[in-house]
Amino acid sequence: MTETRPGACAAGTLPLILLTGCALLTGCALLTGCAPRESGPPAPTPPGAAAKESADEFVARVNRELNALAQEAQAAGYTLDTYITTDTQLLNARANDRYLAYLSKAVAEAKRYDGQELSPATRRALMKLRLNVAAPAPDDAAKRARLTQLEAQLEAKYGEGKYCPKGPGSCMNLDQLSEILARSRNYAELTDAWKGWHAVGAGMREEYGEFVRLANEGARELGFKNLGVMWRAGYDMTPEEFDAESERLWQQVKPLYDGLHCYARARLARRYGEDQVPAGKPIPAQLLGNMWAQQWNKIYPDILRPYPTASLETADALLKVQQWDAARMTHSAESFYTSLGFPQLPKTFWERSMLSRPRDREVVCHASAWDMASGGDVRIKACLVPTEEDLYTVYHELGHVYYFISYSSQPFLFRDGANDGFHEAIGDTINLSVTPAYLARIGLIHAVAPSHEALINQQMKMALEKIAFLPFGRLIDEWRWKVFSGEITPANYNSSWWELRRRYQGLAPPVPRSEADFDPGAKYHIPSNTPYTRYFLSYILQFQFHKALCAAAASKAPLYECSNYGSQEAGRRYVDMLRLGASEPWQDALEKLTGTRRIDAAPIIEYFQPLMEWLSEENKNRQCGW
Ligand SMILES: [Zn+2]
Repeated sequence: MTETRPGACAAGTLPLILLTGCALLTGCALLTGCAPRESGPPAPTPPGAAAKESADEFVARVNRELNALAQEAQAAGYTLDTYITTDTQLLNARANDRYLAYLSKAVAEAKRYDGQELSPATRRALMKLRLNVAAPAPDDAAKRARLTQLEAQLEAKYGEGKYCPKGPGSCMNLDQLSEILARSRNYAELTDAWKGWHAVGAGMREEYGEFVRLANEGARELGFKNLGVMWRAGYDMTPEEFDAESERLWQQVKPLYDGLHCYARARLARRYGEDQVPAGKPIPAQLLGNMWAQQWNKIYPDILRPYPTASLETADALLKVQQWDAARMTHSAESFYTSLGFPQLPKTFWERSMLSRPRDREVVCHASAWDMASGGDVRIKACLVPTEEDLYTVYHELGHVYYFISYSSQPFLFRDGANDGFHEAIGDTINLSVTPAYLARIGLIHAVAPSHEALINQQMKMALEKIAFLPFGRLIDEWRWKVFSGEITPANYNSSWWELRRRYQGLAPPVPRSEADFDPGAKYHIPSNTPYTRYFLSYILQFQFHKALCAAAASKAPLYECSNYGSQEAGRRYVDMLRLGASEPWQDALEKLTGTRRIDAAPIIEYFQPLMEWLSEENKNRQCGW
């Protein structure tokens, strides 16, 4: 499977707690609820002990027992991903079931402390415990079983989704259809591939509606108004406050997105004709190089590159000439982190990680980082090849690894990101320091002063990943929160989806849609029920972190040229934040590094200032907006 930088997978196979996040682009196999649960807890409490247990004792025990179960589940998950067989699938499913069964039992037991006076740390630990499942099951056994079944069916429908335009011999899966979206420049072919994949959603409509009803019931039993309220409870503020924050951040970045949209539409009109891409109207969603039009970099080389002949040298050529292998790439990433004062990676990291594709067995190549819940045993699993893209991937994955290492002395329930946007942002922040000057310094490109035109090209390429993504990152959960609250009903699932796609992304469906379709189902995170706001937050946070590190390093360079390589002071500030894990409200963690308690999109705008100025000149005589 291909890997792209921001989509690089965080970690692990366990739900939420252990290891944050999953792939942005293609998704990993989330193994929650894939098999019927076994009965019975793995580590039974002696009869009578539970009733006398104080809340503090209960939390201490749960931390201990979850850690033991996680150790086993992570070992099974890692074995599966690095050696796919029917046996490792079975062992992994069993270990996951045990973990999940324990979790739901612990959540039920924790209810006996409701309304009691608790220390802040204990209250927080119980909250983390409750929020540990993305879809809590109702207490009723039949409903619980049905929810598990629905989750498995929805994931299976997505995973098995195919488009067979000319009968059984002509079937294409998502990878193949995505390839058409990325490479084809034929309007009809693009429309056909888009339509073919989106048909996969229609069959999920009924099941999704039922899933929403049951998961909402589970959330209500845990004391939340609905599942959307429960998801937002992880952000240390009320859902209303969090909505207002998301909207504020969106308004901060919207001018840059609008400029990008205006420019892209004009370039696409030049390519496909004004009749297909009319000025002043939303852009047809199949033309932007990605099935969901969530990132547009695939059409950068031939359609959206501002200056065809001016480009920065990439590291690709010298990586090959100098014969860099996976270990050398990983050592290079390690040396960036150690230059900030982080420790060297443990010996076991090198012994137990999978850095390249093995020749003799099936593996999941999608890059991920693993906290094995076992005294400093951290790893990455990837199939690195010597390209600049994979170099960025390994710097990204080590961000997760150094977060694991930094918070390793926290109790189990706090070994997590400060909020779910943090984990993905840590390594991406470091990648913002992997500037051309840094690459020249480590001998991977030739040192030349980049021209202004090359800078604009570079910024455009990046903006097509990082800015084009933002409205999509915002709308997925806005749609879901409204579905969970009942504001959006099955009768308007699809029309409300397109309403948001139009409002935020400025996109239109390639062909007319109706309520017979279910286009949200064609995006992995909806059938897999993976929260999505984390990616929106992570994209904004990484620039805020970068700016704070540059300030700590006393850099005088503009943000887009600043590299924090070698700054112990920047590293010290970073670690101060990372070592908290999830033990304190994320605002406290953020304040440690940045001195502010608010997420702020001003740094991302500052970073792209040259591009913004260029776009406003470029779009001067265009009718922007939609
Ligand atoms: Zn990641």
